[in-house]
Amino acid sequence: MTDLDDVREWVASARAVVALTGAGMSTASGIPDFRGPQGIWTRSPEAQRLSSIDEYVADAEVRRRSWAGRRDHPAWHAEPNAGHRALVDLEHGGRLLAIATQNIDGLHQRAGNEQVLELHGSIRESICLSCGDRRPMGETLARLDAGESDPPCLLCGGIVKSATISFGQPLDRAVLAAATYAASRCDLLLAVGSSLSVHPAAGLCDVAVSHGARLVVVNDAPTPYDGIAAVRLDGRIEDVLPAVVGVGSDLTP
Ligand code: NAD
Repeated sequence: MTDLDDVREWVASARAVVALTGAGMSTASGIPDFRGPQGIWTRSPEAQRLSSIDEYVADAEVRRRSWAGRRDHPAWHAEPNAGHRALVDLEHGGRLLAIATQNIDGLHQRAGNEQVLELHGSIRESICLSCGDRRPMGETLARLDAGESDPPCLLCGGIVKSATISFGQPLDRAVLAAATYAASRCDLLLAVGSSLSVHPAAGLCDVAVSHGARLVVVNDAPTPYDGIAAVRLDGRIEDVLPAVVGVGSDLTP
């Protein structure tokens, strides 16, 4: 029996699976990750500044660069890949309790998953940091196309950003609570395409394991959680996930 065979069996016999997904999930859809070999931060450590809330609030130039990055973000044209579709099969088979994703690209929902908890928010909405006004990102990006480079809030004049979590911002408490609850109830946690280096998201692995679940890491590079994982499947997500979920979906009604 190979590790892949083991994981296939665990998925097929699982009562409740939770998938904790990271940026590696979407690289096959053309969206670069942060810390992989072609990652945004690996290639340009300076880009990390754009992800800090303090820099964003303090520096109009950081905001202008962030808005240009949002307008040109590959998420607007990306399509879900075979890894996303495998998680749709798992949900349709009745075994997927939730996807807790660190991704902001919305590709799990585009693929057809409904049980998606966006731990780090979504690029598909903008939010005012002062009054909390939320609107579809398309509306705010239209203001960029009309010539604004750092569009202020239409209601209060406050600073607007994407409805994503930057470093220094707390996660949405209700979303984190729902993800923590799901991790505590699952019997199998698939940690997919994440360097598992960002907390509290990575801590969902601890929650699952401490409640008796098996942890399976699917990633092409080592993670700090490999030591408590039952297995790390070292390969490309778009190949590995369909192979792992295949048996499970065949067995479902
Ligand atoms: P990360 O960049 O830290 O880690 C990604 C991991 O996935 C790396 O270990 C990399 O080697 C691996 N990987 C990349 N492509 C793979 C593939 N096809 N198959 C197997 N492994 C692959 O990403 P993270 O852990 O999600 O944390 C970084 C933060 O980045 C998150 O907070 C997230 O919000 C944000 N982010 C999101 C997106 C997105 O929405 N698509 C993109 C970049 C960053």
